[in-house]
Order: sequence, then structure tokens, then C-alpha cells
Amino acid sequence: MNLGQLRILIVGAGVAGLALGQALRRRGCIPDIIERNAGWSDAGTGMYLPGNALRALRALGLDAEVEKRGARIETQRFCDHRGRLLSEVNLGSVWNETGPCVAIHRADLHVALREMKDAPPVRMGVTLVSLTQTAESAIVHLSDGSRERYDLVVGADGIGSSVRRLVFDDAGLRALKQWGWRFVVPCPPQIATWSVLMSRQSACLTVPVGGGRAYCYVDLMGTEPPKSLAISTDRLQEVLADFAGPAIAIREALEGSVAIHAAAIEEVVLDSWSLGRALLVGDAAHAMSPNMAQGAAMAIEDALVLTDCLSEQPGIGATLSAYAARRRPRVGWVQAMTHRRDRIRQLHPTLRNGLLRLFGHRVYRSHYRPLLAEP
Ligand SMILES: Cc1cc2nc3c(=O)[nH]c(=O)nc-3n(C[C@H](O)[C@H](O)[C@H](O)COP(=O)(O)OP(=O)(O)OC[C@H]3O[C@@H](n4cnc5c(N)ncnc54)[C@H](O)[C@@H]3O)c2cc1C
Repeated sequence: MNLGQLRILIVGAGVAGLALGQALRRRGCIPDIIERNAGWSDAGTGMYLPGNALRALRALGLDAEVEKRGARIETQRFCDHRGRLLSEVNLGSVWNETGPCVAIHRADLHVALREMKDAPPVRMGVTLVSLTQTAESAIVHLSDGSRERYDLVVGADGIGSSVRRLVFDDAGLRALKQWGWRFVVPCPPQIATWSVLMSRQSACLTVPVGGGRAYCYVDLMGTEPPKSLAISTDRLQEVLADFAGPAIAIREALEGSVAIHAAAIEEVVLDSWSLGRALLVGDAAHAMSPNMAQGAAMAIEDALVLTDCLSEQPGIGATLSAYAARRRPRVGWVQAMTHRRDRIRQLHPTLRNGLLRLFGHRVYRSHYRPLLAEP
């Protein structure tokens, strides 16, 4: 199709929506993008981006900028809760030429995406009210009172997607028995790379994210739900006291003024991501537990593959079929590995730690190997 003539609405200006806007713009299509938030926020915590995420960012001309704003990560260290090393993965030997692994503050990734040269404008503070479809177009009613017709409406509106609610009756959303607390502190010198400390039902991940900051993610898994997700700094200090290694330095850096983000982890699994002229991408289509750190990578790859399919296929129906054929096996693999890693996490610690000591590098490589191929 001639992308310059297509009318596309992207709902949501997160990683998926901004990446899609830029991918389309590079092929001559200026989409409309709406974002429900009235302004940009510098809130949020850290994100870890494995090599395939940086390769996808390279296709948008953004890899160097993201690496400059973040921190390059050379190793992933898996330890028991006392900080004893079980396995260390040399990331260069796994990802090779695919791309470096980088950790970054989420707000910095967003700034890099939205400040790209010629980035399409975003209509802030606007959301979707209704979506109806005919054979020829999708008709949307927006919260600013406008009504518009589009060739394609893309729901890039995250795990709580309105497009998914309107088109798929909110199918596919599942709670996982996981709860997480995240925060960013000034980076202690002891935190030089990605490390996770694992106890029986809890883990503590630490990683530098650039700009002299470190990101920490503490979770609970497979237990009874916590009475409340809200957690005080004092209580978090107590939780961190169960861990040694880098957690000790994080405890010292964690002060009352630090913003703690709490989340009950959910996933989205759908048999189909599209209906008529509406398509879901990113977390709206396939949110998952964060243990593979593939959320941003999958969202940006979705954007690149959709843009390819739009330019290669003769119509929207053929585009959406080609897109599903290319994306479903890869996203399905990541979802399956995510479930497998969650199961490994929940093995008895003696068994899990032994497995990681003996086969940690091999297990890591096998989980990510298919992602070395181009999406
Ligand atoms: C605890 C945790 C840790 C994670 N860690 C990592 C990690 O280390 N690495 C990684 O790659 N991924 C990680 N992820 C996953 C990652 O955050 C997501 O996969 C990624 O943000 C998905 O991007 P998205 O654009 O699809 O959705 P979002 O980032 O959620 O963006 C959706 C956007 O749409 C907007 N929106 C929502 N509804 C509407 C509406 N009705 N109208 C208009 N706009 C709307 C929202 O305001 C938002 O701006 C983690 C997730 C969790 C929960």
C-alpha cells in the first residue's frame, strides 16, 4: 500500500505508540496519535533492554541516543539471597552482533522516543470514547468531541487498553500471582551491573540505569496476595534486609523521599490481536511478567513489523494476516519462556540454585536464542 495515503490512528503514546509513529513517519505516513495523559511525566523507574531491543531501536535511528542516556550492561548475575553467585551470563557472548544490552530510566527512553527528529505530533489529554467499523473504515469518537474515519486504528494503549475493551470486550487479561515494588536511588558504587538475588518467594533485582542512578525491583511470587500493595519505606527496608550483596547498598540509599511504584503483575493472552480494522500492539496485545525484560523489545518490534507489512501488502486485511503470521510465533515464544522462567523461579531453592549453578548460561542462551534472528 502507499503509506502516504493511509489514515492511521494510534491510541497511546507509550513505547509501542511512539515507536510505531516514528516507524510510519520514516515510510511517509504521518499517523494521528492520541495520549490520555494531559502532559508528559518524568515519573517511572528503570527498564532493562536486552540486545534485540537495541537492534529494534537502531532501525529507528535511536540506539546510540538510548545507550547515551542509559547504562550498557555487560553481564547478568544470578545469586542466591545471600549474594552467592549461582551463574553469570556474559551478554556479549549471547547477543553478539544483535545489539548491546542497556538499562535506562523509563522517562529517558520516552524522551528519546518522543524527541526524535520529525516525530509525529501527539494530541495530549485525548482518549477514545467509541469505535465502530464498516467494511471501508473505522469510525472513532474521541474525548475532545471529534469524530474521525481511519483505515486502521492501532491500540497501543497498554495493559489496561481501551481499544481491547471496546473491540475484544476486555478478553485476555489475567492476574499472575506476582506483586512488585520498584524505585530508583542514587547509584551506590557496589552496583555496577545487572544482578538478581533470589530467595524462596521473593527476588531483588538491581541495575545501574545511567545518570548516576540505580533501579531496584523487589517482588513476591506465588504467595498469598499482600494485604495492601502500598508499602512504606520502612517496610521495604525490612523486606530488603532478607537479601545480602547489592541489596545492602540499596538499603542504605533508600530514603523516605524515594517514590515507590507498586504493581500487581498481570498478563494478556489473546487468540487474535485484530478485528476488522482495529489492531492491538505492545502490552495491549501481549503484556507479560517482566522476567524476560522483553516488553519494550516486543513493542518496538511490533511497530517495525507492522510498518513493513503495511508497505508490502495490498490492503488492511492482508496486512493484518501477514503481521499475525510474522509476530505470533515470536511473541508466543517469549510468553512461553516467561511462563517457564516463572516456574523455575518457584522451584525449591536447592533445586533452582543447583540448576542455575550447573546450567545457568545454557538456560539463558536457550531462552533468548530465537530472538537473535531479525523479527
Ligand atoms: C514491574 C514491571 C517491570 C518491567 N520491566 C521491564 C523491563 O525491564 N524491560 C522491558 O522491556 N519491559 C519491562 N516491563 C514491561 C514494559 O513496561 C511494557 O512492556 C512496555 O511499557 C509496553 O509499552 P506499551 O507502549 O505497550 O504500553 P505503555 O508503556 O503502558 O503505554 C501505553 C500508553 O497509552 C496511554 N493510554 C492508555 N489508555 C489510553 C487511552 N484510552 N487513550 C489514550 N492513551 C491511552 C498511556 O497513558 C500510556 O502512555 C515491565 C513491566 C512491569 C509491570
